[in-house]
Amino acid sequence: NVLSPQTGSEEQGKLENCIRPQKFIDYIGQEDLKDVLEIAIKAARSRKDVLDHLLLYGPPGLGKTTMAMILASEMEVNYQITSAPALERPRDIIGLLVNLKWGDIIFIDEIHRLSRMTEEILYPAMEDYRLDITTGKGSSTRVRSIPLAKFTLVGATTKVGAINSPLRDRFGLVQKLRFYEVNELSKIVLRTAQLLKSPLSEDGAIEIARRSRGTPRIANRLLRRVRDYAEVKLLGEINQDVAAEALQLFQVDPCGLDWTDRRMLSVIIEQFNGGPVGLETIAAATSEDTQTIEEVYEPYLMQIGYLGRTSRGRIATTAAYQHLGFKPPNEQML
Ligand code: ADP
Repeated sequence: NVLSPQTGSEEQGKLENCIRPQKFIDYIGQEDLKDVLEIAIKAARSRKDVLDHLLLYGPPGLGKTTMAMILASEMEVNYQITSAPALERPRDIIGLLVNLKWGDIIFIDEIHRLSRMTEEILYPAMEDYRLDITTGKGSSTRVRSIPLAKFTLVGATTKVGAINSPLRDRFGLVQKLRFYEVNELSKIVLRTAQLLKSPLSEDGAIEIARRSRGTPRIANRLLRRVRDYAEVKLLGEINQDVAAEALQLFQVDPCGLDWTDRRMLSVIIEQFNGGPVGLETIAAATSEDTQTIEEVYEPYLMQIGYLGRTSRGRIATTAAYQHLGFKPPNEQML
């Protein structure tokens, strides 16, 4: 699915590493986040200390991993990238922690999915740079403490509410990433096109940006699809018409909605008079799981004002009716 904000095989190759910004200057948008982190970096460097632990949250594909890598490069330290499902057994996290060097950054993706045991190992490690190993059972239980090198943990999550408060409280900085504006995404695709040596006009970049769901990962993927199309059809520079034509072929609508988005909204409108409708019902109608609906589809539909959430369920807004070509009901009913 070209519009999925999750990493696909295409985003794991060498090409991806050349596209990924390496320095703050190439990291477009997220100005508030960059301001906070630039200060944190300056302060840590002037104190000759490590960076505070940092929790980044927001939908997938917005630049959390990229930011962790940039922090490592700006601090001139090494980084390790892992994710909660890869740290299921205590020895996975212990192995990682004991091998860290002073200042290293560990990036843990999907940190809300850590097992309880792994989380408990992390508490003293984050707070006092100490590993507490328990041996024996009953009255012969002993706790042995092993000192660790001072490090920085960067946690990333799409579900900040699912993080236990003892873990959350151990992050000195908690920062949200927001969806990108069209002008920011168009700068991102212009930069990527330059790296890929693909001719792209400003209006072509805007057309791709408008359909990218506020997400750089999707913007870069759509650019690749449009580039293929332009190359195969010998169209030369990618302008607005070429971009629109190519993306129509991939069924990406002008707002970046795909089949599942449209189905979600049309079920709410056609079968439930605009809602409210429960999450489970929407999941069944679209054959998606509730987690994907909640973490991937809904945030963007809410961001563009097509979907509302009430205590009784989801509702389709007037803008959603209009976008899908339905006659909006009386405003008061929404
Ligand atoms: P996340 O970890 O939030 O899922 P990533 O950091 O993997 O997202 O970002 C996805 C891709 O989008 C990256 O490979 C990078 O090329 C691009 N990207 C993300 N944020 C930016 C940005 N602010 N400026 C330029 N490119 C970005």
